[in-house]
Amino acid sequence: MIDPFGRAVTYLRISVTDRCDFRCVYCMSEDMVFLPRADLLTLEELDRMCSAFIRKGVRRLRLTGGEPLVRRNIMSLIRDLGRHLKTGALDELTLTTNASQLSRFAHELADCGIRRINVSVDSLDAEKFERITRRGKLDKVMAGIDAALDAGIRVKINTVALRDVNRGEIHDLVSWCGTKGLDLTFIETMPLGEIDDDRTDQYLPLTEVRDDIETRWTLDDIDYRTGGPARYVSVAETGQRIGFITPMTHNFCESCNRVRLTCTGQLYMCLGQDDHADLRAPLRAGESDELLEAAIDEAIGRKPKGHDFVIGRDLGPAVSRHMSVTGG
Ligand code: SAM
Ligand code: SF4
Repeated sequence: MIDPFGRAVTYLRISVTDRCDFRCVYCMSEDMVFLPRADLLTLEELDRMCSAFIRKGVRRLRLTGGEPLVRRNIMSLIRDLGRHLKTGALDELTLTTNASQLSRFAHELADCGIRRINVSVDSLDAEKFERITRRGKLDKVMAGIDAALDAGIRVKINTVALRDVNRGEIHDLVSWCGTKGLDLTFIETMPLGEIDDDRTDQYLPLTEVRDDIETRWTLDDIDYRTGGPARYVSVAETGQRIGFITPMTHNFCESCNRVRLTCTGQLYMCLGQDDHADLRAPLRAGESDELLEAAIDEAIGRKPKGHDFVIGRDLGPAVSRHMSVTGG
């Protein structure tokens, strides 16, 4: 699948549910209204969608959400998708999770062929963690991370930089990840969906985070790439890698290789644009995947050049849907 700008689309992210057991302040409002369950693709339909994309050239799949591990029977989908790893059709099957349920699933995930996962941790202080997530328990998340490491899964920590909230913890996060052998990536908040707080207050450019880190650690820019938007440095003192995802201060669209599928079968060709293609209707139109594959081709043919996020007072979100719908 080659888009109009010559970019090969080899990476699919699937939001398997828009629901979550947390309500992170930058992601959701306190009283989120979730989609009716009847609108969701079934697990069998999700498998069929993913398999069609794999046939068309997708090499990496990431399940996300919402919280992927709260979707009922999600392990049966993961186990089924694991067959594509065995045949070599897929290079990687992975997951982004808040780790609240991870200790239950870690060993089974490893058994299904999952080798690395991303876990979101925005604070190492239990009280602050609960405030940011509005209900998360840090000890459960920590137990989940340990279970994943114990199962041989590599863990990358994602931390959203939040100005007055976790800025003071940057060094602690770098040390903790260094000690535990975890990669760490900082992310700028993006203006996706209505939330209760003001994003202008939350937003902390990663240029400032990097300056903060460099007051204590020596950072070297490195060429390491995972095919994603992060730019990496290595920390001379620990050898660990730190990534920076900077959709606000530096737009990374020129190398975008991904598209995103929602749990209702809508394909978003760009995280920051409203244009999308309905794949549920062609999927449900019959048992053959011919219409579905034609709809995928048509959608890739309209993948836009990029997004143009701006955060400012009174500007509102760039797009009305939350990150949990399109999948972070
Ligand atoms: N629930 C899982 C989790 O938190 O890892 C997976 C879904 S979550 C939407 C995926 C990632 O998106 C998380 O790392 C989260 O911090 C990030 N995220 C959510 N809303 C965001 C926003 N408005 N700007 C930047 N990152 C956001
Ligand atoms: Fe849930 Fe992840 Fe959004 Fe937090 S960032 S509310 S854990 S979907």
